[in-house]
Amino acid sequence: MEKNFDLKRLHVKAFARDGLSLNGLQPLTFFERLADLATTQSASEAENTQVEWELTGETVSVAGGEPQIFLHLKASVGLPMQCQRCLGQVQVEVLSEQTFRFVADEATAEAEDDESEEDLLVLVPEFDVWELIEDELIMSAPIVPKHPVCPTSVTMSVSDESFEAAQAERPNPFAALAQLKKKPH
Ligand SMILES: [Zn+2]
Repeated sequence: MEKNFDLKRLHVKAFARDGLSLNGLQPLTFFERLADLATTQSASEAENTQVEWELTGETVSVAGGEPQIFLHLKASVGLPMQCQRCLGQVQVEVLSEQTFRFVADEATAEAEDDESEEDLLVLVPEFDVWELIEDELIMSAPIVPKHPVCPTSVTMSVSDESFEAAQAERPNPFAALAQLKKKPH
């Protein structure tokens, strides 16, 4: 039995009722806002970075009421980011594992939010799973990415020297200004 799902417009209720599960890989470039956090250094690196995801639907029957609708989401990506200590590239494993319960409306979500362990979302006829995956990964990404231990590289000190040499060769702007002032009009 092969079914095609449009994850941009998922019928959550039916997906959960049938207890379905989907998983796959999606290129990082598909997620514009998430890709903005990455410091991929080439187009091929960006294309080869994949978001791995898994989505499972579930309903739980409630005595005397409508069954509760759940989505379990697991998503991960190895995101190249800029280390905020050494400014080099650091590969950050971003992982999100979250359970969502769908409720009828915003008022119910607000009323039940405090006492519920899972995140509450309002049930809509067409739910955008891609947006959820992207939001969850962005929230799970570190705000200040850092290497556990920054690499110290020899090439870096060499490039520092050449940088300083280049700086030394450039005329000091104030000295240059002084030269200009000395020139007769
Ligand atoms: Zn670092």
